[in-house]
Amino acid sequence: MATLFCPKCGNDSDVFYDNVCKQCFVGDKKLIECPAVVYSKICPTCGSVFKKGKWFSKQDESETIIECVKDSLKLDYQVKNLILTISPKQLDYSRYSAHIEAKAEIKGVPIEAAADAEVRISWETCDTCSRISGGYFEGIVQIRADKRLPTQEELEKCNSIAGDVAVRAQEKGDRLGFIAKTEGLYEGVDLYVGSIKLGKQICRAIIDVFGGKFSESPKLVGQKNGEDLYRITYALRLPEFVRGDIISVDDKVVEVQSCGKHVSGIDLETGKRFMENFNDLMEVRKLSRREDAVSAVLVADEGRTIQVMDPDTYESVTIKRPEFLSAEAGNEIKIVKTAKGIYVVP
Ligand SMILES: [Zn+2]
Ligand SMILES: [Zn+2]
Repeated sequence: MATLFCPKCGNDSDVFYDNVCKQCFVGDKKLIECPAVVYSKICPTCGSVFKKGKWFSKQDESETIIECVKDSLKLDYQVKNLILTISPKQLDYSRYSAHIEAKAEIKGVPIEAAADAEVRISWETCDTCSRISGGYFEGIVQIRADKRLPTQEELEKCNSIAGDVAVRAQEKGDRLGFIAKTEGLYEGVDLYVGSIKLGKQICRAIIDVFGGKFSESPKLVGQKNGEDLYRITYALRLPEFVRGDIISVDDKVVEVQSCGKHVSGIDLETGKRFMENFNDLMEVRKLSRREDAVSAVLVADEGRTIQVMDPDTYESVTIKRPEFLSAEAGNEIKIVKTAKGIYVVP
């Protein structure tokens, strides 16, 4: 077999790439090119980063630096199977050094390269943060409860749901998906939201957990670039009944365990479980609370019925025996007196 020479370096070679030997081919290539100084614009308040004319929500600062370096790299267009390792190191508040290592193949020849860059951060308040500080909002979510005051527990849960929804909205790129202000009131809480969309998403997420309903009313607040500008008030109502309420549901009396889209609890007359779609119930009204239960003496257990002594009148009252009752005659049991009669509570 005739030996061939590389026309560039004159060395012997069997394999040629673009008519030169492997060493010459590799030596010619610039796998990566990186400017010595790379600039990145980051919001000092929330960490959002400005890229390609747009703000993007916060990520880890060193992630931001890595991406910024990656975006400024120029690669040989023939590069295949590229593995990039970028290691940033913070120099001071606004500067990072980044070491870049690259491994790849060009026309099947493995090739390696390294480079160093400095990243300079220019700190600039982002669109979202400047709106928040300017008091911008597009909607108010008014969280209240139907025919009662919401409990502290409910309000805390609502706030945390709303916070989660806002985080998710921002992760999905809704730059106005922020809660500008949370105002605690005697009758509930008002959330000032950066976008109309977020207001609706918060209402839906809360109703998913608690049940209840919401309505929206737009209000014209001005004009911008010739278009009407609206703010929307979302009136959200948590359901009327909570755990421990004793309610009259059609012809039954139920101790509520949960009330949302469904009402579930214990039928106090039979002791059986109760579960119905809230909207299917015709007549619902609150009779009492579990905490209003009082002690009474179980006078007699007759199998299907029991006799209970009314603690106010000392009269024996006969009622159905609920499944859950385990007390014996002579024992004290807990009862509630309601407009529909006396009921044993489990
Ligand atoms: Zn050569
Ligand atoms: Zn910001």
